[in-house]
Amino acid sequence: MGLMTADQYRESLNDGRIVYYKGKKIDNVCDHPHLAACVNTVAVDYEMAHDPQYKDLALVFDEELQENISRYNHIPKNGQDLLKHLELIIKATELGQGYIPLAHDIGADAMNAIAITARTMGDAGKVYAERIEKYRKYLKKTDKCVVAGVTDAKGDRHLKPSDPGQANPDFQVRLVSKDDKGIIVRGAKVHITGAAYCNEFFVIPCKAMSSPEEAPYAVAFAIQANAKGVRQIVRPFNGRISDDEFPLDSPLRMMHTDSLIIFDDVFVPWDRVFLCGEWKFAATMVYNFALMHRRTGCAYRIPMSEQLLGIAQAIAEYNGIADAPHVKEKITEIVIYLETLTALSRSACLDFVDHAGIPVPNPITTNIAKYHFAHNYHKICEIIQDLAGGLLVTAPTYRDWMNPETHEDIKKYLQGSAKVPTENRLRMFDLIRRLTAGDLETICLHGEGSPFAERMTILMEARKTIARCKKLAEGMAGIK
Ligand SMILES: Cc1cc2nc3c(=O)[nH]c(=O)nc-3n(C[C@H](O)[C@H](O)[C@H](O)COP(=O)(O)OP(=O)(O)OC[C@H]3O[C@@H](n4cnc5c(N)ncnc54)[C@H](O)[C@@H]3O)c2cc1C
Repeated sequence: MGLMTADQYRESLNDGRIVYYKGKKIDNVCDHPHLAACVNTVAVDYEMAHDPQYKDLALVFDEELQENISRYNHIPKNGQDLLKHLELIIKATELGQGYIPLAHDIGADAMNAIAITARTMGDAGKVYAERIEKYRKYLKKTDKCVVAGVTDAKGDRHLKPSDPGQANPDFQVRLVSKDDKGIIVRGAKVHITGAAYCNEFFVIPCKAMSSPEEAPYAVAFAIQANAKGVRQIVRPFNGRISDDEFPLDSPLRMMHTDSLIIFDDVFVPWDRVFLCGEWKFAATMVYNFALMHRRTGCAYRIPMSEQLLGIAQAIAEYNGIADAPHVKEKITEIVIYLETLTALSRSACLDFVDHAGIPVPNPITTNIAKYHFAHNYHKICEIIQDLAGGLLVTAPTYRDWMNPETHEDIKKYLQGSAKVPTENRLRMFDLIRRLTAGDLETICLHGEGSPFAERMTILMEARKTIARCKKLAEGMAGIK
């Protein structure tokens, strides 16, 4: 089949999958305006792959298949490959107007984490290593949109999934039974971005397992979105696009929806099973996924941070305050935020480490980059909301602007700088509301893992550095 076109991707979604959205069962996700807007965002990845100007970035020539494949399905060989991958996600997010195309990136992170885990398992992992490479070849040939179901419903966070104190044993996806054809799984994954309009998803454990009782929860596989027993309840993402806002010429895109995916005794054939009870290796899989996906998250955030810098400067000029010393200070703060993120993300690629023969972004630098953008995001939003002023939330709507009875009053009294038409200022308020909405603050914090998860990894990865520095200090103090 080869590389899919955007239209082929859209057609592939009408496959009988079970999706509930806003209280209703949806027959074809492309027919619902909200979901279709998200589909348009994903389609950017497919459009890019067919656009000659992005060919070198989006595609790689595969020697075995003797054809171009998506770069996401190619195993990186070195730091330059990781950097190209970073640049591809940045460009795709830019083309998606800050909305993330994600047709392949999160799936690739899961696929490479599975491959690393299989290789780490030695002889026991050989069968999984063969299966994941066979599955990779299938993705190279079919170009399917694949996302990743990692986060489990979890239940009581302080208890193991198998603990009798849990309200039920299905908070984390688990193995129910197996036979010579495959396995049956049950459980639920939450927050799974883009699952409503992907072709398939990877399911991998969301935490390390610490004892044999947890073996049934150490399960990883790939499954079609329309597989029997899979159903999704989809949460709309508040993209704040409504008739109250000024219309845009560009196609309507929407930040993604997230799914609660229920696995109701779902059959998975063996050739799609990549971990099945080897509880000691759940940690390797989730660790490597988190590492690669945090670098992917940094790539999303670079163009998004450029947008934040752009809206801050624009609204400062529209309000006539751009030359005030405190405003320049605030703009400088956003420049530092953006450039720190960009430098750390690029450095994480070039200063890569080798995990079982696959180069992965530097763990410490990646986690610091992700922590940096999440931890400081609210501060950047506060700066922008401060520069914008209260009209950000009190300005009359587009419908009032269009009403001849109220238009002239709004035009006269809500202008800022004489150099900028009132409409531009009101349009910028719409954009600021969209880009600094509360939902985005939460995704920034929790998407790709919550801040404490990054801090834990930073401390764990830095143990050699800490020991070296301690020795240095002891040497300086004359302690032997
Ligand atoms: C918009 C969005 C999109 C996402 N997309 C995806 C996706 O596509 N795929 C996917 O797999 N996941 C996805 N996630 C999930 C994301 O990775 C998780 O939200 C994140 O890992 C936090 O998990 P949680 O939401 O269950 O919160 P929790 O783990 O419940 O965290 C809440 C708080 O509890 C603390 N905590 C948790 N466990 C413990 C414990 N045992 N002891 C002490 N403190 C604890 C945490 O540090 C945090 O402060 C997405 C999340 C968001 C918000």
